[in-house]
Amino acid sequence: MSVTILMYHMIAIPKNKAEARFCRTPIAFREDMEQIRRAGYQVVSLATVLDGMAGRTTAFPEKAVVITFDDGIACVYENALPVLQEFGYQASVFVVSSRVGGYNDWCEDFGLPRRRMLTAFEIRTLADSGVDIGSHTANHLWLGKAEKTAITNEIRDSKVALEDIVGREVSHFAYPFGSWNPMVKNIVIETGYSGACSTIPGRNQKNTDPYLLRRSEIMGSDALWQFRLKLRLATNDMPPISAIRSLVRPVFEKIGLVSSRSADKEIKDR
Ligand SMILES: [Zn+2]
Repeated sequence: MSVTILMYHMIAIPKNKAEARFCRTPIAFREDMEQIRRAGYQVVSLATVLDGMAGRTTAFPEKAVVITFDDGIACVYENALPVLQEFGYQASVFVVSSRVGGYNDWCEDFGLPRRRMLTAFEIRTLADSGVDIGSHTANHLWLGKAEKTAITNEIRDSKVALEDIVGREVSHFAYPFGSWNPMVKNIVIETGYSGACSTIPGRNQKNTDPYLLRRSEIMGSDALWQFRLKLRLATNDMPPISAIRSLVRPVFEKIGLVSSRSADKEIKDR
């Protein structure tokens, strides 16, 4: 198995430059979803991926992708949910539990404008629509820099608070800022989560650590061709030229702009 997990933050028009990286416009998001379908990928849930890793699922789609949203900003409900429903896609939303019904004030330090967070009603509606609600701590803490008590509280309290809202188990976690260390990871495991998303790029294989799932960040500025490459290569940075070349070469071969590989080989052999 090989799964790409996409990481989004906001589906909205950016209000300023600082926010541009984190805001995928609703139009671009819709195009991304269309591209997933056109490229023949199957959208699966995080639970399905974790089941596949644990060997609980034998039939795992060859081209699988998971859609995730970090933070729990209200635009996920307003702008992403209708598109997800239109395509019949599943998704996970990792919510900062102490800000439910409030604002993303921790973002102010980074020059990001104030945004409304999901309300409890919106979170319940998402969950009832089949969206998986996960935890992103209580206060969007840098867990890798925090003390054990604070880490434990953040990871446990957010699980309890969100379970209270959705009325079902919250079993997935995402590390804020991608910040973790072995102690943090152990506390996530001990608290009873079944898996956790990192911000480490790359594809997820059967032997990937389920508490350090790889994700590819989709940025506001990504063009559709960049999204396509990220979907395929699961990278966060622009793929190296060699990777781009290997993707475009078959097209060039088809239209006769370059000779095919076998022809190259024949010439060499002679
Ligand atoms: Zn976050």
